[in-house]
Amino acid sequence: MSECVFCRIVARQIPATLVHEDEHTLAFMDLGQVNPGHVLVAVKAHAENLYGLSDTQASAVLQSAARVARAIRDAFAPHGLSVYQANGKAAGQTVFHYHVHLVPRYEGDGMALTWPVKNPPREKLEDYAAKIRSSLSPR
Ligand SMILES: [Zn+2]
Repeated sequence: MSECVFCRIVARQIPATLVHEDEHTLAFMDLGQVNPGHVLVAVKAHAENLYGLSDTQASAVLQSAARVARAIRDAFAPHGLSVYQANGKAAGQTVFHYHVHLVPRYEGDGMALTWPVKNPPREKLEDYAAKIRSSLSPR
């Protein structure tokens, strides 16, 4: 039996409140519910994080997330919706099975993300982009 809690949910070995399922993804209610209607969209086949997703899984997750997001919008009429996804402990990941949070948002709901912008000069942006481009793997 897998030790991964989300693999166990996918395998129906532990309960979850399901919202949506397709070939590659499973969407279920987050137990924590930052706001009512807070859903997690996870890949079915175990991948620890974004780095480990196949192209098929990556596509499937965003399709499911968009579909479920529209349903959350229609069901709860939030003021907004945050899509949150963390990779690695330093980023705040706590369950190491890839998943995306869909969080209905309201003015003054207390959810906060610190966004400490650095506004580097254009030359720095070019340097950063060149590093990333040189590491992009061919498809
Ligand atoms: Zn897993």
